[in-house]
Amino acid sequence: MSRDPRYDVLFEPVRIGPLTSKNRFYQVPHCNGMGYRDVTALATMRGIKAEGGWGVVCTEQVEIHPSSDITPFIELRLWDDRDIPGLARTSEAIHRHGALAGIELAYNGMNGSNFYTREVPMGPGHLPIATFFNDPVQARAMDKQDIANLRRWHRQAALRAKQAGFDIVYVYAAHAFCVLDHFLSPRFNQRIDEYGGSIVNRMRLLREVTEDTREAVGDTCAVAVRLTVDELIGTAGLHKEEVREVIGVMAELPDLWDFVLSGWDNDSQTSRFAEEGNQEPYIAGLKALTTKPVVGVGRFTSPDAMVRQINKGLLDLIGAARPSIADPFLPRKIEEGRLEDIRECIGCNICVSGDFTQAPIRCTQNPTMGEEWRKGWHPERIAAKRSEASLLVVGGGPAGLECARALGQRGYRVTLAESTAELGGRVTREARLPRVAAWGRVRDHRLQQLNKLPNVEIYRESEMTAAQILEFGADHVVLATGSTWRRDGVARHHLRPIPIAAHAAVYTPDDLMAGAALAGDVVVYDDDHYYMGGLLAERLVEQGCRVMLVTPSSEVSNWTRNTMEQHFIQKRLLESGVVIIANRAVSDIRQGSVATVCTFTGRATDHPADAVVLVTARLPNEGLAQGLAARRSEWLEAGLASVTAIGDALAPSTIAAAVYAGRRYAEEFEAPAIGDAVPFRREITGLTPL
Ligand code: ADP
Ligand code: SF4
Repeated sequence: MSRDPRYDVLFEPVRIGPLTSKNRFYQVPHCNGMGYRDVTALATMRGIKAEGGWGVVCTEQVEIHPSSDITPFIELRLWDDRDIPGLARTSEAIHRHGALAGIELAYNGMNGSNFYTREVPMGPGHLPIATFFNDPVQARAMDKQDIANLRRWHRQAALRAKQAGFDIVYVYAAHAFCVLDHFLSPRFNQRIDEYGGSIVNRMRLLREVTEDTREAVGDTCAVAVRLTVDELIGTAGLHKEEVREVIGVMAELPDLWDFVLSGWDNDSQTSRFAEEGNQEPYIAGLKALTTKPVVGVGRFTSPDAMVRQINKGLLDLIGAARPSIADPFLPRKIEEGRLEDIRECIGCNICVSGDFTQAPIRCTQNPTMGEEWRKGWHPERIAAKRSEASLLVVGGGPAGLECARALGQRGYRVTLAESTAELGGRVTREARLPRVAAWGRVRDHRLQQLNKLPNVEIYRESEMTAAQILEFGADHVVLATGSTWRRDGVARHHLRPIPIAAHAAVYTPDDLMAGAALAGDVVVYDDDHYYMGGLLAERLVEQGCRVMLVTPSSEVSNWTRNTMEQHFIQKRLLESGVVIIANRAVSDIRQGSVATVCTFTGRATDHPADAVVLVTARLPNEGLAQGLAARRSEWLEAGLASVTAIGDALAPSTIAAAVYAGRRYAEEFEAPAIGDAVPFRREITGLTPL
């Protein structure tokens, strides 16, 4: 197959300073929780992006000096020459597939507490550190000598980046993550010298560092400026009019402009809060201010949307972090006319959570992300089958679908049996909740791929019993039967069931997703802390209920801090009239009322409640596993060699974990046994001689 000529424009080469990108697909810098700890794993991941056809592949932010350390986040470091070989591994992996390698040099300034190095952080003024945490640390105001030092450090880092083989060297002034952005923003920069005040003064440091970088490495490297186009707080922050001035003054100074919307939370909004291409109004008109190429993002997964950005004169290069994570082969698939194979990002930000939890990046749609080197997994390829074994996968949720798909890709004979008429399991049910329809892509992609596999048969409306499984006669059985929300209050706060009156109106998320309609005063008790409590509260408000959300946490959907959604969720709930009762747990459910207790004092209060929705723990659906275990003596006769529970049926978790579990079963099926060995490769730091 060949590509549709409508998309030819996406494959035009683009000149970037002294270099040329082979096409317009540009993987912008993105964090990944691997950084300096997992050097080879990171390099391999970037290399696979290049293999997938991205014309440019960038690193995440790279700390350029020990006085700028963003512990606990694990990014890259270029503090001295000793860091060069590790970075070179990444540039080499990118070059191997003909892509340009970009490096995002960052002096974090007020965005790093320097907990590792214990240096005093620096910024435009004496202000508390502006990180995600309220660290009891202040940055000190930089004097002229500090500014001269910073310029020298950045220059040294640029030279080291060049030595490490990078082609595009970034000057980073975005996301409020770096000192150049802090100087630009009137929020942080209240200086009264020539580096503060007017926008011309506030951009002085950015201009100087850009000039330094050009002078240092501009002969062979392209210099990119990454710039916040609007802080979204009006004139209290950097706003579009000022940004127009910055680009007007510096128009031709860098070789590339990379536009970013406000902080990372706004730049990488989830699909629950922003559509594909949502940044368009903010970047419109900026490209006309420079002749240099412009890159920007917008969770672009559709080639039509990408072409529109080019044709409308908004962008020259299609920037992507998340779409390249969900599908490292996105450019190649467009080039080969295989649009139906694209694994579209669902906009859930599980990838972002890797960075926030200091764990290697994982992705809901792409279970191989972060496992390219550790486990040798590849987003497009998988080992061929080792035998003629047949497999029965029971359950068509994300775990079962991915398991059947990947086993089918290996060439095994697979049967997938799903008890309901719909495939997708929890994904199908949850995607009907307010504004998260994009999650259905987890199902759609897998069904699309399964349709192409003649060796996989799918049966809907086929509830399997233990007897039927034995009768079916598969060699191996995978149980991907999912989980059920508990109805007794047990989760984190209560580890034992709470008192519930016999006729109290108690519901679980399963009931609501199955269509239960509630009315009047509804208490949503959220001791799950991810998205479900907030989503159900939104749904109930839409249905006309008066909703009170009770949570033992200090805020709603607390874990969504790791997906950068928490403040958006709390705002939406407050604005829609949900009453949020934090730091309390529902302790007693009666007919018409509930009691809650303060998590600190234990003091109880009563609240009216026509119905209570318990968003608490889940239990795996283990009935089939237990039924089969009870009939173990019949297995041999039935020819059954193994029964394995995966995904939520083993231990309830995220959709991402279910997809990963399905993939893992398929990857490891009939692979050589590893016994007690660590099930992945690790990179151990070389010990310095004593
Ligand atoms: P996971 O997230 O682990 O994939 P889900 O709850 O999304 O789990 O999906 C489990 C799927 O298994 C659901 O679609 C459910 O209807 C199906 N299922 C559960 N028990 C059986 C069974 N006995 N036979 C066939 N399908 C089943
Ligand atoms: Fe997209 Fe979610 Fe994957 Fe991130 S984890 S790339 S948001 S699908």
